[in-house]
Amino acid sequence: MSIASRMFRPREMQSGRHHLLFPVLAAALAAAVFYVDTYTDLESAIAVIYVVTMLLAAQAVTRLGLLAIAATCAAMTLLSYAVTHGHDGDLQSTIRLIVALAALVVTTMLLLKTESARLTLLSINDALKESEARYRSIFDRTRVALWERDYSRLHAKLMNLKQQGVVNIKEYARENPGFTDNCIDLIKVVASNEAARELLGPQSSAIGELKPSIIAAKEKFLDVMQAIMNDERMFEDKVELRTDSNEDKLALLSISFPKEPAAFNRVIVSMVDVTQRELAAKALADAQAELTRASKAAAVGAMSASLAHELNQPLGAIIVNAQTLLRWLSREPPDLPAARRSAERMIRDSQRASDIIQNTRSLLAQSKGRVETIGLDDLVDETLILMEHELQRSGTTVRVEREDTPPLRAVKIELQQVLINLITNAIQAMDSAGIRERFITVRIAVQDREHIRVTVRDSGPGIAADAKDKLFAPFFTTKAAGMGMGLSICRTTLEARGGRLDGGNHPDGGAVFEMSLPIRPEMEYA
Ligand code: ADP
Repeated sequence: MSIASRMFRPREMQSGRHHLLFPVLAAALAAAVFYVDTYTDLESAIAVIYVVTMLLAAQAVTRLGLLAIAATCAAMTLLSYAVTHGHDGDLQSTIRLIVALAALVVTTMLLLKTESARLTLLSINDALKESEARYRSIFDRTRVALWERDYSRLHAKLMNLKQQGVVNIKEYARENPGFTDNCIDLIKVVASNEAARELLGPQSSAIGELKPSIIAAKEKFLDVMQAIMNDERMFEDKVELRTDSNEDKLALLSISFPKEPAAFNRVIVSMVDVTQRELAAKALADAQAELTRASKAAAVGAMSASLAHELNQPLGAIIVNAQTLLRWLSREPPDLPAARRSAERMIRDSQRASDIIQNTRSLLAQSKGRVETIGLDDLVDETLILMEHELQRSGTTVRVEREDTPPLRAVKIELQQVLINLITNAIQAMDSAGIRERFITVRIAVQDREHIRVTVRDSGPGIAADAKDKLFAPFFTTKAAGMGMGLSICRTTLEARGGRLDGGNHPDGGAVFEMSLPIRPEMEYA
């Protein structure tokens, strides 16, 4: 920086010629003064000239040296006095001696003061030099592309326009073709660092006029001008640039404008190349869009599979009830009360099928089911009534063990479906294993202050060793007509509300599935 060229040169660095010249002159002068003072009859305060000796010597010696020379001069003055006047010194010559010594003392003190001021100046200068070097090295070595640019002429022009009443620079540029290019021509590059040269190439970062071609999109430059016009202190935005090799780049531009108009000759402009980052972000966005498309397709597939799976049970129940209804009707005479009961069951199962479709549809539409306050006792009872037929048909006895539990906030149809899945799985497992004594135990208990635990245990064969790890994986099934979606959907449904579902084998035999249900889900959806 320019300070370096104006720098004060410390005495140690001054040329060797001066180094020798001043002490030699000083010594010669001191010798001459001593001779005249001692061996001639000149009746004047010749010793005062020692002061000149000191002034000469001061150019080349340190503070200690100066003190030594002052002492030597004083000693020589006293020696001359002793040789010339001995013990009978008159008043005049004694006064001359005192004047000479006083001149030496005063000169020495002044020189010492000057010397200390000079040393302070040197140390300030050194500190300045060091901070300048530090700034330089930051400027040069940082990976951020930096320019020092002179915006003073542009600033003056814009302030002039402002005074003329121009407010919107974009409008003004539209009305005055060539205005933008003229403005770019007013900017000068004062300095640029290595990263700047790497970003744009050596020509575009060269000191001198700013190359207009580097500004690929002039619109942004108009924004910069508007910021100057509005007296803003900072401009930051993404800009498109064109390098020396005609390559388009995207950079994050940041310019801090000074407060004082005079300081616009040194404006720091910084840029960070974000071309790769932007490309990566675009690739990521594309990949995400692709993934969303794919997962939507998968979700639709899973949803259809889930619908087919969930509807199987109520539809099956409707068929059974319809057949029963026909049987009651074909009796002689028809058993109308029994037929009515079957019809009522059919209505109930149809309603449930309709609820399942409704819930699946609302899941697809991203709106979750209605959260309500549910008593688990009632929910279990209701579910068992719904499953009455299957339970009867398979000869399964259900035992419900209840602890006093608080009501919880949940979506009823979701919990019901999970329970139905677990009970159906239990019935099927016991059925296929040909178990004679078929029991299912549903237990409702407090797990902790925030959760209720519901377990469904059966007296079936338990979960096969090779199925344990894959139990909750979608499409995992060991059944000939199974779909392998039930447990996977159940777990996802509960987890979406902050709950859990785990399964394994009971130490006393049979499979046991455990639901952990939050009393208040973290998020409630209206
Ligand atoms: P699917 O109903 O098609 O079989 P699920 O996800 O409901 O699908 O269950 C996956 C597998 O988990 C079943 O095929 C079965 O092997 C096993 N399973 C589930 N529940 C039980 C149970 N109570 N006892 C033994 N095995 C079970």
